Amino acid sequence: MSARGVLLKCDMNSSFDQPDPAIMSMSPRSPAILLNDFFSPEVAAAMIMIRHDSRTLLQVLEDQKLMEAMKQSRLALEGRASFAPLALDDADELGTAKEGEEDYKRRTIQGNESPAGHAGAGGGGGGGGVGPAGVLSGALSLSQEDIVGVLPNEISAPYEVPQFPIEQIEKKLQLQRQLNAKVMEQDRHSIAPEVHPDEQLPFDEHDFVAHFQRVSISGEDTSGVPLDDLERASTLLVKALELREKYMRNSHQAFPQTTARFLKSTHSSTITHQERKSIADHPVNPPQSTQSPWVVEIPEDLNYSIRPVHGVFEVFPTAESTEPLPYQYTRLPDFVQDMQMMCSMIADGPLKSFCYRRLSYLYSKFQLHVLLNELRELASQKAVPHRDFYNIRKVDTHIHAASCMNQKHLLRFIKKTLKNSADEVVTVTKGTPMTLAQVFQSMNLTTYDLTVDMLDVHADRNTFHRFDKFNAKYNPIGESRLREVFLKTDNYLNGKYFANIIKEVASDFEESKYQNAELRLSIYGKSPDEWYKLAKWAIDGNVYSDNIRWLIQIPRLYDIFKTNQLMSSFQQILDNVFKPLFEATNNPSKHPEIHTFLQYVIGFDSVDDESKPENPLFDGDVTPPADWTDVENPPYAYYIYYMYANMTVLNHFRAARGMNTFVLRPHCGEAGPVQHLVCGYLMAENISHGLLLRKVPVLQYLYYLAQIGIAMSPLSNNSLFLNYDRNPFPEYLARGLVVSLSTDDPLQFHYTKEPLMEEYSIAAQVWKLSSCDMCELARNSVLMSGFPHKMKQHWLGPNYTREGVAGNDITRTNVPDIRVAFRYESLLDELANIFKVNNEQKMQYASQQ
Ligand SMILES: [Zn+2]
Repeated sequence: MSARGVLLKCDMNSSFDQPDPAIMSMSPRSPAILLNDFFSPEVAAAMIMIRHDSRTLLQVLEDQKLMEAMKQSRLALEGRASFAPLALDDADELGTAKEGEEDYKRRTIQGNESPAGHAGAGGGGGGGGVGPAGVLSGALSLSQEDIVGVLPNEISAPYEVPQFPIEQIEKKLQLQRQLNAKVMEQDRHSIAPEVHPDEQLPFDEHDFVAHFQRVSISGEDTSGVPLDDLERASTLLVKALELREKYMRNSHQAFPQTTARFLKSTHSSTITHQERKSIADHPVNPPQSTQSPWVVEIPEDLNYSIRPVHGVFEVFPTAESTEPLPYQYTRLPDFVQDMQMMCSMIADGPLKSFCYRRLSYLYSKFQLHVLLNELRELASQKAVPHRDFYNIRKVDTHIHAASCMNQKHLLRFIKKTLKNSADEVVTVTKGTPMTLAQVFQSMNLTTYDLTVDMLDVHADRNTFHRFDKFNAKYNPIGESRLREVFLKTDNYLNGKYFANIIKEVASDFEESKYQNAELRLSIYGKSPDEWYKLAKWAIDGNVYSDNIRWLIQIPRLYDIFKTNQLMSSFQQILDNVFKPLFEATNNPSKHPEIHTFLQYVIGFDSVDDESKPENPLFDGDVTPPADWTDVENPPYAYYIYYMYANMTVLNHFRAARGMNTFVLRPHCGEAGPVQHLVCGYLMAENISHGLLLRKVPVLQYLYYLAQIGIAMSPLSNNSLFLNYDRNPFPEYLARGLVVSLSTDDPLQFHYTKEPLMEEYSIAAQVWKLSSCDMCELARNSVLMSGFPHKMKQHWLGPNYTREGVAGNDITRTNVPDIRVAFRYESLLDELANIFKVNNEQKMQYASQQ
């Protein structure tokens, strides 16, 4: 039940003697009056009836008489005509109704500035039984049962005027608000035991509530679809959210607390909050690491036995044992079933309409929010000393190491190396060693000839929809030999030049101080010693920076390896990618390099051309990896599933040993079938690109509800798959999806020394992003990144994991509380909208049985 219904009801039920938190969190309107002045008594009566016999508004409105009545009352309202059709009982109430009209207009147009309604943000459910729905602002979508259960039913007629004069109600509400503030204060103290009594600040409601103009929708059927459709949509969406929650929980990946609370998931979060600290207590800059990053404690060896079972590695206590340690992961048949369920769900007509409507609503709501609050947002940003867009932390959430420098930088680096190390042997061709000078001689080139044009690494018009041509751009001057010498970790010089150029990029990041990046390094799964070589490359070359973390990208190249007879089955890729990780977790002292390197690895990425033709769906009896000996490449879902399943067991194993765990963050939905996005929805903590979500409203809505991070790179898309002006990025941002801006490949797409700033800058120009939008994007990028919790606490504030405003520290993020409150309340609204119907349904079933 939504605002109008709730308001109406609580008014009818209100006995204000009892401080009910749900009531307290509502805005002080007098809704029954509103209802009566907006609709005729007949319609109002019908609306009340709806609550009783669960008829939908549409069904009721089919009644011609009511339609007529409604039209009349609308006309009356629009034309400022008399309220005669209302046929109120006496003149006194007519007066009240008019007052109510004024009241309504004032509040609806100006927005609701009631400070109540945001108590929940303060303490993560500290509101004492308010429940998730209770914290909604503007009384949107309150939990009906809470109110009904607590308050005596005072309805005597189908419709009713308030029992108390309006002034009295206002007075009582005022009292409630004061009580509410007291309760909040108590809560605040009860959850903040570590604050020294001397430091206790007087209670300030600004801590909890951003004063801004809220957009609230009132009325019975605010979802805009018939109740049946809403119920159905709600059931399906809740099911889908439960699925994702299960996959994330199993694999030690993050799931947002807010949504989890609605799902009533039982697992408790392990993150400890620190009570509000000032910048002096908790500086914005994390302490500089003093010792070498490569000095790491090595835990003792376990000598477990590790074997793949149906393509997934399992840990056995001994070599003889047949029973693996109980590290749960989703089995293939279950995954196939979930996948099929999700795929039929995203094709479901009524659900599509429902999600499309919700997304459109969210979009419009944001536009209104900006219209009403833009100046306030800006003012609160101006009020923060020192902080602005340039000195807030940003993370480039999607960038490949081999192309993290821009073309000019690479050119300069090549020229410099050619000048300083001309006689260094860099490669062996057909058994003969070649120096760098000889390599260039063989191409008839001197330092003087080299230009950016000649390098020819930049994407251009010819790469649009040609991923093959784009891939070829990774070869400077079209020579794969130069790529091997300069841009690979595993070559004759053991990636010396590559390490040097990455360190140059890293020092640029350190110089700019506020920019960070998650660079993708490749593990191909071609040979078992790739991990060892990569770890050695990083440690020997001392490729480390506080501003950089690694993601491991696994290209989907089985078909090429198979064609070149480098391997026999798909299982071999899995062996080469995952066995070294299990071994290093099992016996770290035997693999100290890998163990050490893994401290700075966040997770896995899956890369390649998504638009390659494939059969996106497979069934439960698909060929297992050990028997996949075909030349044909397995589909995307197959790759992702086996990465996910192996990573899940690995994470259990590592978590049990107190080591860091990994996340899955694949390229997903850049092109190709939309089923890739279903894989991402089920198994990935967050994804890169997500362009195709624009075609699948159901998934897009689910990505919103589950707050799945999407690293978007509009400039990359512009060169490869989608023109800049058609990019869905601004819509995603408006709707509240967790999007961030990233560069993908500065070597191919960017011109300046600060490619991430270039990305922000162009987006801001083209889409007219406000300073608040930009800061929100930067905050999103830190939130979705894999940088350590401790660092994020310095960057975003010690309490950044809290929900809503309590998690925001404008002195660090430069994001106004207003924006954070708007996002949080909107999410709560959506979730409450879905879960309310779902819970009602459950209760109905329960009562029938
Ligand atoms: Zn990429």
